Amino acid sequence: MHEYAVTKSLISIAVQEARKAGASKITDIKLVIGDLSTIVDESVQMYFDIISEGTIANGARLIFKRVPAELCCKACGHRFNKPRQGFTCPLCGHYGVPTGVGKEFYIESIEAE
Ligand SMILES: [Zn+2]
Repeated sequence: MHEYAVTKSLISIAVQEARKAGASKITDIKLVIGDLSTIVDESVQMYFDIISEGTIANGARLIFKRVPAELCCKACGHRFNKPRQGFTCPLCGHYGVPTGVGKEFYIESIEAE
């Protein structure tokens, strides 16, 4: 249900922005989602279709851009993208900790007409 709330706020932001620009219909919404966020694309899309009904965002295409999670090695300070499995630094083999990159969820751009 996490996605319900974020999708709701994303639609209200998109609608506000589009209205400000004098648009009457939103065609595309580009979203940036970090790999460490718990947001599931399919759930956002599903809620989007339901919540956007009756708004100028209805029917808009959602484009998801995934940002790889970035870790910082505790031993050598190397910053690297999280491997598929584990958290190991490619340089020295120690554990990396999350840097904050990879937790984002925001609207990158909105196309409207
Ligand atoms: Zn290292």
